[in-house]
This record gives sequence, structure tokens and C-alpha cells, in this order.
Amino acid sequence: MSAPLSETESHGLGRDIFKQLIEINTTDSIGSTTVAANAMAQRLLEAGFPAADVTVLGPNDRKGNLVARYRGKRGSKLRPILIIAHLDVVEARREDWTTNPFEFVEKDGYFYGRGTQDMKSSDAIVVTDLIRLKKAGYVPDRDIILALTADEEGGKSNGVQWLLDNHRDLIDADYALNPDSGGVVTDHGRPLTMEIEATEKLYADFQVLATNPGGHSSLPRPDNAIYHVVDALARLQATPFPFEMNPVTRDYFTQMASLETGAQAADFRAITMTPPDPAAILRLSQDPRYNSTMRTTCVATMMEAGHAPNALPQRAEANVNCRIFPGHSQEEIRLDLVKLFDDPTLSVRYKGDDGEISDHGSDRKAMVPPPLRPDVMKALHSVTEELWPGTPVVPIMETGASDSIHTMAAGIPSYGISGIAIDHDDNRMHGRDERIPVESFYRGVDFYYDFLRRLTTP
Ligand SMILES: [Zn+2]
Repeated sequence: MSAPLSETESHGLGRDIFKQLIEINTTDSIGSTTVAANAMAQRLLEAGFPAADVTVLGPNDRKGNLVARYRGKRGSKLRPILIIAHLDVVEARREDWTTNPFEFVEKDGYFYGRGTQDMKSSDAIVVTDLIRLKKAGYVPDRDIILALTADEEGGKSNGVQWLLDNHRDLIDADYALNPDSGGVVTDHGRPLTMEIEATEKLYADFQVLATNPGGHSSLPRPDNAIYHVVDALARLQATPFPFEMNPVTRDYFTQMASLETGAQAADFRAITMTPPDPAAILRLSQDPRYNSTMRTTCVATMMEAGHAPNALPQRAEANVNCRIFPGHSQEEIRLDLVKLFDDPTLSVRYKGDDGEISDHGSDRKAMVPPPLRPDVMKALHSVTEELWPGTPVVPIMETGASDSIHTMAAGIPSYGISGIAIDHDDNRMHGRDERIPVESFYRGVDFYYDFLRRLTTP
């Protein structure tokens, strides 16, 4: 049994693990999550995790996932807590960056490298904190499972879905924590809010296609493939999806009402009333973030049509990208689009992540979020108060998507919780010169250590 780690020692360990992860390439093109998963497995084994509780597994040798189980009190009736965090990163080209994206660089108070924000910082933090808990001899009141996974950003081997499909028993849990979202939003380092992501929209692409016999452009016909698609898109632009609210977005707007002042605060309040005020909805819809939090959105993102300047188009095609409000399926939204376009000559078909076109979308829905768990909220409130006194905890709906969509669809309530503080205008995920403040990383290490203890101490 080794000695407990001091706070300073845990920061040093965290930095080492962080550096190691950044310097292992885990991109889909040439990287390997297996190498990173094995490296983290090795760290846990050296810290005293039994070999039987640490496994690396996946569909092929480049897309490995780590699953580790931190044993809780023997005979505990409580179901485990699952932590999911992806190991893969978005591609990064050396010539686009100031530093080498796959080299861990500390400069001017920041750590630079691909994955410093999304999300190797959090991978390193949770591994570090499990090691620190282990070395302190801590016994949680239930098992804590860590899954470090492949292909969140892209690729065909999403680790969370693969584990759910093939080894559900290994990761089955009461609820999941996913540090890929949530966290402290700061302005010049000053904390504004602690966000907790408690629900997500569902992603879908649809192909809107018109075909036509075409012909010579000197003899136009009344119907034209381009006009059909353009008419449909004009209807889409003019017809927003209906306003909706769920327990999480209600909490969000209620909190925003108390954080804002004046007309904006009044509008937030007015949309939480029954019935909600249509004028307030209209005003808030002008802001893309609020708009996306109030409804399903579908927007034209790509278009391709025609084959020659002097020929009538035989084909016109648009891609419509939808972010679906929890509780609706892709197929439901596809049928909504068909009805809205009201044009039997158009086909509206679902486009899968692999580009494959199918007549129907999936009937799977993003789960309507259950009310926030009081035990999770209580622990989050108390650690936030300790580390960032006076900072309000605000539940949010992720308008993008993360791996929580898979655990939530599998019936495991999932929360995006992170102790990393990033300035609101310094989001560099997927971009060039990705970085995280050095202080934010160390504070993040302290956060998850305290948070996990509070969650698992009766
Ligand atoms: Zn991510």
C-alpha cells in the first residue's frame, strides 16, 4: 500500500498523465485509442487496481476502450456510478498550429495541444483522481466505473455504443457523469456560472431531392428541380418548429431570469409561464442559443444542383441538418418536413453518419430528461460553493451532441459535469491552438476528487 498523495503531488501526477495523453495520437485517421487506453490501464494497475477490474476492449485493435471498476463498500445495495470520457480527438494539422498539436506545451499560463479542452484534460483528471482516492484508501459507498472510449468525434466505432451493445454488464449504472460538457464559464477568469448539462438534442441529416427530365434551357418547363428544392427550403426558413420546454430548459430559463436584468429577464420569466408569452418567445428566438434551446431546429447546410449552365437541371439536392428536441425521433421530424414541404415530387430521406441514405429515420428518441437528481445537485452545489464561492449552478441542454446521447438512450440518466473553467470567448474545441489555462486544469483535478467523494460518502 503506497502513501496518500498530497494535493501538490496529485497535480504533478495529473500533469504527467495529461502530457502522456496529449502525446499519444488518438485521431481517427492515423491514431489509436487502444494505445491511450493501455497507457491509462497501466497507470491504474500501478496504483493498485486489481487486474480483474481493469480491461481494454473494443471492436478492433485501433479502437480500444478502457473500462475500470473502483470497488465500493462490499455488499452495497447502491448501483454504480459510471464516468464516460472519450479518448479520441479531432484531426489537427501541424501547419495550422503555432505549436505541434501532438506535443504537450506549457506556455504563458496555458497548456497547448490537441485535446487540451476536448477532452484529454478530463481524461487525465478522472484517472488522476481515481488513483488519488485509491492511494488514500478511500472506499466509496458504491462502485465507480470509468469508461475511456473511442470515436466520439467521428469514426465508425463509437466506444460507448459498442460497450452498451456488447458489454452492458461492465458499464451498467445508476447514472452517468460525462465531463465532456458542463463546467465553469468565466469572463477574464472571473466565474459566471457552473453549467451542468442534463439533456441533449438529437442529431439528424436529411436529403431533400428533386429530379426532373431536364432539357434544353432555351425551352424551360413549368417544373424545375431547383425551384422545387428552393421552395421547400423557403418554407423551412419561414416556419420555425413549435416552442417546447422540458424540466431542464425550464430550470435554465428560470435561472437566467434571476441572473439577467430588465427586459431580457422579463422575457425569460414570460416563457416559463403557462401559457408561455408568444411575444417573448419571438424576441428570444432572435438569439441563436435561446432559439435552439426552445425548439427543434432544421436548417439548410449544403446544396448541389444542375449539370450545365445551358441545361435544365435534372437533379437538385439539399442537406437539411436538424437538432431535435428531446422526446422526438428522427422519423417524426422527417415526416414533419414532408408535411411542411407539401410537395409529392420531392423526396425527403434520412442520411446516416456514414452518408448512407435511407427512406426512414430511426424511431429512437432523445430521452426526455427526468428531473435533476437531488444527490448529484447537492454534491455539485457544495463543491462549486467551495471552489468558486457564489457561482450559480445552471442546468443546460446541450444543443450539439456528446456520448451522453447513447447512455441516455439506454436509460442511464447522464450529466455533463466538469470542474474546468474556460473563458466564454476562448472555446477552442476542434480548432487551432487548442489550450486550457494551467490553473483551470489543477482546479479541475481538485474538483472531481471532492465531487466523487461527496457523491459516494453517505
Ligand atoms: Zn468532446
